[in-house]
Amino acid sequence: MGQREEAAGVIDKVAGPLIVATGMRDVQMHDVVRVSEKKLIGEVIELRGDRASIQVYEDTAGVGPGEPVYVTGEPLTAELAPGLIGGIYDGIERPLETIRAVAGDRIPRGIDVPKLDRSRRWRFVPCVREGDTVQAGDVLGTVEETPAVTQKILTPPGVSGVVRWALDGEATITEPVARIADASGRETEVAMLQKWPVRVKRPYAGKRMPTEPMVTGQRVIDTLFPIAKGGVAAVPGPFGSGKTVVQHQIAKWSDADIIVYIGCGERGNEMTDVLKEFPALTDPRTGLSLMERTVLIANTSDMPVAAREASIYTGITIAEYFRDMGYQVAIIADSTSRWAEALREMSGRLEEMPGEEGYPAYLSTRLAEFYERAGWVRCLGSEERYGAVTAIGAVSPPGGDTSEPVSQATLRIVKVFWGLSSDLAYRRHFPAIDWLRSYSLYDGTIHAYFNRHVNPAWSAQVAEVKAILQEESELNEIVRLVGFDALSEKDRLTLECARSIREDFLQQDSFREVDRYTSVNKQAEMLSAILAWYHGGLRALERGAPYRALATSAALGLISAMKYRPEEEWPQHAAALRKTMEEEFAAMAQGGDGN
Ligand code: ADP
Ligand code: MG
Repeated sequence: MGQREEAAGVIDKVAGPLIVATGMRDVQMHDVVRVSEKKLIGEVIELRGDRASIQVYEDTAGVGPGEPVYVTGEPLTAELAPGLIGGIYDGIERPLETIRAVAGDRIPRGIDVPKLDRSRRWRFVPCVREGDTVQAGDVLGTVEETPAVTQKILTPPGVSGVVRWALDGEATITEPVARIADASGRETEVAMLQKWPVRVKRPYAGKRMPTEPMVTGQRVIDTLFPIAKGGVAAVPGPFGSGKTVVQHQIAKWSDADIIVYIGCGERGNEMTDVLKEFPALTDPRTGLSLMERTVLIANTSDMPVAAREASIYTGITIAEYFRDMGYQVAIIADSTSRWAEALREMSGRLEEMPGEEGYPAYLSTRLAEFYERAGWVRCLGSEERYGAVTAIGAVSPPGGDTSEPVSQATLRIVKVFWGLSSDLAYRRHFPAIDWLRSYSLYDGTIHAYFNRHVNPAWSAQVAEVKAILQEESELNEIVRLVGFDALSEKDRLTLECARSIREDFLQQDSFREVDRYTSVNKQAEMLSAILAWYHGGLRALERGAPYRALATSAALGLISAMKYRPEEEWPQHAAALRKTMEEEFAAMAQGGDGN
């Protein structure tokens, strides 16, 4: 890890993941230390004189008072360079595959493996020549990391001047690829590898309001509760309501360039699923394996609690690194509640004054700091370049009750709320996103975008769909009180339309290939079809057709088959559906009942 590694302190007390050491001169808050001869990795989280409280990112069993603590003089940093993509790391960015190769299935404590491969050579294609003037953020050259991702090697923050030399050829990540001289002639060597302290946000030139949708291919999200590129969203829901499946769907199918997926404190087999599935799936945009745009961070429930927080910070730093190149990155954290629980445990052990339900008073500040690192930004550099980090966090409130502190703190920050309902999940309505409770504060901007790019009627259709669903819940109330017979024919038609919206449009099976992803064009046309049937039905009722004729409409069968028609066959299906509707409604207008 650090260059400087000398024994500075002595362990005084061990309390699970928390260690208190004395004699800790020359250390700073958030410095990384190595604990005992086992060299466990820890971070200073409280300093009082020469007494340091250290959260240890590895199992502390067998470590006791009197053992030494070594200082490194460095904060917890992420390594950023080609080689990140397709990797799976633990919370402090140790490559799990490399560890498995050298040490087997269990991570040996204190193991020292480089975070990124030091021996692999990458082809560096320069974008600058000797004599060019560059500033921080300017592209020095590119490296094709995977067929899907080309890394831009940037002039690091804080560096600017005249290029004295740039490589045109292969190098490892630690070898120089450029030399830059500042005004006084002092030269800085730049390598592909950058180290960045994870608790510090990476700089950018400016933040803008997000205006473009991040298309997820999930119908309930893209139409009713869209997320913007650079936006922030939370998925709260009780156990088994589908948080992980929703997040996996977004990781797989959203049109982000890069995905950073953090398994934080959840079951390990879910990460195994990701590892098995992603390489086999192809990105609908590039036709390449999904793994070629994905970075996985796994701090699963069987791994040390303290590293949950590190996994979140490491993940967001990696996301910012790709954002700085001008990429649209999505960072997905499952689950932020487990991180909050780790904060609560550490805070309790530090004997801090507890806030609500034992969580530390700084819980909401910590959560806000994480989500604030998302956004749509103008990157550093003289060329105009924009990048985005979209942040999506699962929240797992005990019993699904979102009045608890983590949910409440999160809801004050995020702009999209996909509230999962155990009731819907129980009825096998998936994704179980509750359309009456969920919201997106980006919907105005994004509807305008879809009106321009997909269908001029997009926002009007979505508004009508929401109104119909709202009306359904009111009509259901009436049915409960006075029975179905009290409803008018028009009300019955509205209920039938709402049923169709729910079953034929909102429900989407993540495990069926034909249904797991829907393009926005098809989404718009599916909604148009359902509403065309509804409007035709309303007109038919006005002209005196009986509701019975509508309830047995053949068009309804074609509507419910819409989602199972692959995109290639969709135009024919849509044409057949239109024709059937025209014929049926024409027959009803003739006074028949359409049969
Ligand atoms: P959570 O993370 O909230 O505990 P999961 O995401 O693991 O819940 O979902 C629990 C189960 O619900 C899944 O194993 C799956 O059977 C079902 N499920 C959730 N979402 C969907 C979906 N979109 N399509 C089909 N099944 C789903
Ligand atoms: Mg889950």
